[in-house]
Amino acid sequence: MTMTGARSASWTPPSCSWFCERVRKDAQTEDALASTTMTAAVLGDPGEIEVRTVPRPVPGPDEVLVEVRRASLCGTDVKIRSHAFFDGGRPPSADFIPGHEYAGVVAEVGSSVDEFAPGDRVVTEAHRGCMRCANCLRGAYTDCLNYGDRSKGHRAQGMTVNGGFAQYALNHVSTLTRLPDAVSFDEAVLLTTAGTVMHAFDVVPRMLVGATVAVIGPGPIGLIAVKIARELGAAKVVLVGTRAERLLIGTDLGADMVVDGRLPDAVERVRAAFGGVGADIVLECSGAAAAVDPALLMCKRGGDVVLVGFFGAPVTADLNRAVTSGITLRTVRGEGSGSVARAVALATRGRLPLGGLITHRFPLERIDEAFATYIERRGGAIKVMLDLPEPSSADERPA
Ligand SMILES: [Zn+2]
Ligand SMILES: [Zn+2]
Repeated sequence: MTMTGARSASWTPPSCSWFCERVRKDAQTEDALASTTMTAAVLGDPGEIEVRTVPRPVPGPDEVLVEVRRASLCGTDVKIRSHAFFDGGRPPSADFIPGHEYAGVVAEVGSSVDEFAPGDRVVTEAHRGCMRCANCLRGAYTDCLNYGDRSKGHRAQGMTVNGGFAQYALNHVSTLTRLPDAVSFDEAVLLTTAGTVMHAFDVVPRMLVGATVAVIGPGPIGLIAVKIARELGAAKVVLVGTRAERLLIGTDLGADMVVDGRLPDAVERVRAAFGGVGADIVLECSGAAAAVDPALLMCKRGGDVVLVGFFGAPVTADLNRAVTSGITLRTVRGEGSGSVARAVALATRGRLPLGGLITHRFPLERIDEAFATYIERRGGAIKVMLDLPEPSSADERPA
């Protein structure tokens, strides 16, 4: 008889309880790991984004951990992915997570946070000012003088600090707005974009009620601008663009008239629509360098042109038109003055039904395809959404 044989003879199989205990311990280890990690889309080399497991952030005293349910891509994300967005061409961190338009559920709150509780549905605003510089102190936190300086408290979600293309995102408590049940996550994500539009109207020192408005560029911002101008009482709204199907959506959202910007007499048509004198407010939302001259020409003497789009290249325009006609050029770089909260207020009343702008959705794992769809406008893409499952259902495992 060999020793092995002797051992086999005396060996008894582990009891069922031993086996179950072992499985339970493995599951606990996995749980512990899952509660400290998350899936996220992380920037790689210029143009690359990689979905992988990273540490899950832990909220500081004035922070909220948001379980992201929906996030959407915007033109800024394309510049972020190519690194063109960053001064010096480098992302702010080695494992940088983009995403500044997202909504979800509060998962955890910091020790000083009593404004929100786990389970609250929320939408984000991108910008948090340092709240110590002169601009922040007068409320202009989007123009924070410490822009990008995390050590002084400034943060722009998905731009200077990690954002929402992940299972979880860390927000300063001041950047979140609670969502009523009536506003879906789909609609909520578009309210960050709507916040930019609200702020573009904020910077014009005149009532929107009764004003005449021309919007150039029927992208998501331009289309939402048409809707908001209509909802806030503009007397007449004209949308200018080059793609017929987008102009049609603009009509659905309340444009009184649409004009094909490629027509040689496009400017005259727009001016004619406003009694031959042009619009009180012109919103340039296309980001096309060639749109600045028409924007100035479509504007009434003494009116305001607001540049909302980011230009891809330096712009040449005849600014004498502005100088000689008393036209004021204004700019916004996203939302501000609590404009996302005000967009939520409009949506709560059912006045911003924007879900129709969502044309595509992808799971986070297929973010590359989402980017390609958005950039190439595959299938008439307007808003491309990333869907994140509820972690509870994704993490389901046998007991
Ligand atoms: Zn955006
Ligand atoms: Zn500041």
